[in-house]
Amino acid sequence: MQDTAHASTPSGNAVPRDIAIDTTGMSEGKRRALEQAETAREKAELPSFAAGLFNGRFDYDVIRPFPAPAEDPRGEAFLRSLSEFAAKEVDGDAIDRAEEIPDSVIEGLRALGAFGIKIPRDFGGLGLRQTEYTRAAMILGSVCASTTALVSAHQSIGVPTPLKLFGTPEQKARFLPRLARGELSAFALTEDDAGSDPARLATRADPTPDGKGYLVNGRKLWCTNGARAKLLVVIAKTPPVVKDGRSRDQISAFIVEADSPGLRIAHTSRFMGHRALANVVLELKDVFVPKENLLGGEGRGLKIALTTLNTGRLTLPAAAVGASKRCLAITREWASTREQWGAAVGKHAAVADRIGRMAADVFAMEAMTLLTSGLVDRGGTDIRVEAAMCKMWGTETAWRIVNDAVQVRGGRGYETESSLRDRGDVPTPLERLLRDARITTIFEGSSEILRLFLAREALDPHLRVAGGALDKRLPAGTRAAVAARSAVHYGLRYPGWLLSVGGPGGPGALGGHLAWAKRCAKRLTRKLLHAMLRHGTSLEGEQVLLGRLMDAGTELFAMAAACSWAEHLRTPEAEVLADRFCREAKVRIDRSFRGLAVNEDDSIRALAADVLAGRFRDLERVR
Ligand SMILES: Cc1cc2nc3c(=O)[nH]c(=O)nc-3n(C[C@H](O)[C@H](O)[C@H](O)COP(=O)(O)OP(=O)(O)OC[C@H]3O[C@@H](n4cnc5c(N)ncnc54)[C@H](O)[C@@H]3O)c2cc1C
Repeated sequence: MQDTAHASTPSGNAVPRDIAIDTTGMSEGKRRALEQAETAREKAELPSFAAGLFNGRFDYDVIRPFPAPAEDPRGEAFLRSLSEFAAKEVDGDAIDRAEEIPDSVIEGLRALGAFGIKIPRDFGGLGLRQTEYTRAAMILGSVCASTTALVSAHQSIGVPTPLKLFGTPEQKARFLPRLARGELSAFALTEDDAGSDPARLATRADPTPDGKGYLVNGRKLWCTNGARAKLLVVIAKTPPVVKDGRSRDQISAFIVEADSPGLRIAHTSRFMGHRALANVVLELKDVFVPKENLLGGEGRGLKIALTTLNTGRLTLPAAAVGASKRCLAITREWASTREQWGAAVGKHAAVADRIGRMAADVFAMEAMTLLTSGLVDRGGTDIRVEAAMCKMWGTETAWRIVNDAVQVRGGRGYETESSLRDRGDVPTPLERLLRDARITTIFEGSSEILRLFLAREALDPHLRVAGGALDKRLPAGTRAAVAARSAVHYGLRYPGWLLSVGGPGGPGALGGHLAWAKRCAKRLTRKLLHAMLRHGTSLEGEQVLLGRLMDAGTELFAMAAACSWAEHLRTPEAEVLADRFCREAKVRIDRSFRGLAVNEDDSIRALAADVLAGRFRDLERVR
């Protein structure tokens, strides 16, 4: 199949080689953002179970048997020590109130090696795997969100991961031992005008005339760990290069010493939750960074940030698992003992409904996160889609779980932990957990951005086959030829996507669910193709419709993960939980599909446009 991104437009302008999406007709800002994202996008070279769901495949054998790595005694010993330390020394309530993590906690974590979990032993780290790292995040996530963020901003997005992936041997030798010893690091990408859209970055790194390095100028917003870090990853623009006849912005990544002259903390930010983040606004004024500290070469910065997040993104759903398990325990204890209206509150159907769902969702959330972590450790598969699904679904579900837990615990759910303790009641931290959970669907890739990411990956194989037929940048003849070839391609495959034979199944309820899921992947693919045909190049703007398809795909992945996890655990309880989860997921998937045909998307979007234009300003007036 022709690589559609290689041709010339009728006007003779070269079509950027790495942009598979037709950006003609887009606003300048949108075009730049999209081109930046496309350039930084990793091309799928390895198979992915979850990406295959959007291409008619349900390759259950990729995830069965469950990819649990062999037990590592060193890893188990570390996790045991971390659990004991977290239970005894990490007081989430006190940290929340003081808005500061005590030095004793940081020292204790340092002594355990918790700041070098995945740093190779050769460099002084623990050299453990993604699975142990994920489990560490689950442990910390169940006690204190700020402490989890301290460890993860350093390791998931801070210096160690990009350094391991993209650093030169000299850079690794220079920095990894410092990081393994517990020198903290942070990640500075966001700016006032650049949140989800890094194309808007304003921080500049200009090469010095003597060629020895760069002078960095700019302002970075919301840098977690910024007040404690000794080393920072700073993302900045280096001079543009001309590529395919067009000037292209270059986004680069640097390792910056926090005590560099010209770098100062301009503000300490405070938030609704995560109150002890040491999160700051950084100002960089002519900060000299030696060229030896450039990571991965000029123009690789966004790719580095995105690649770092592939696995980095697993920390938040892992922490969400920890917090959700805590919610489940609190809810169970309360709902089984608190009597109102003649019965334990958990026996009233409206409350029972929340509890049942909570248990099923916790099971699936843990399954997805451990499964994806296990795939990372096993290697050989592309886990970007799985990790994005874990983050999006896990954080959204955890938010619902903690909200339900607050509801079930009634007024005590809304009362602070210390207030409950002071008046002699059971000191549960739901009020804090709710505040802490709220940001998790926003940072490290908001849910909206992750759905766009998933949609881009889901569409990729189809764009490769049929995208050229819709690309107005290509000559009419080329488009017609691509259309003819894609008709043959889909003509051969479509009948198979209509058949509902076979399944990875096996006996019992889970076998039935898996057979259903296999058929459903075909249905999902058909629906994606129909959407492509119906909306053509404007599909990219149909975020709500694409969101339904991405939600359905994510639920399918969750079903598969839950079944594989249950098969691995081999307990009747696991089977019940996986079964209940799958039943609910099927209802949600059907709802998503129904929403594709019956919805009020257009009228709601038109209403939003009127709201934004100020037509209903009177509605905002309190009468
Ligand atoms: C507590 C906290 C800690 C943080 N830590 C760090 C850190 O350590 N390092 C760092 O660099 N940054 C950090 N951030 C920044 C965080 O990653 C950003 O908040 C996040 O990227 C979103 O950017 P924004 O807040 O500017 O929202 P915006 O990008 O302005 O978005 C606003 C809303 O619009 C939605 N939206 C935006 N674009 C689209 C689109 N194309 N389609 C659909 N919806 C869209 C978003 O999802 C969001 O709901 C932190 C933020 C907070 C609050």
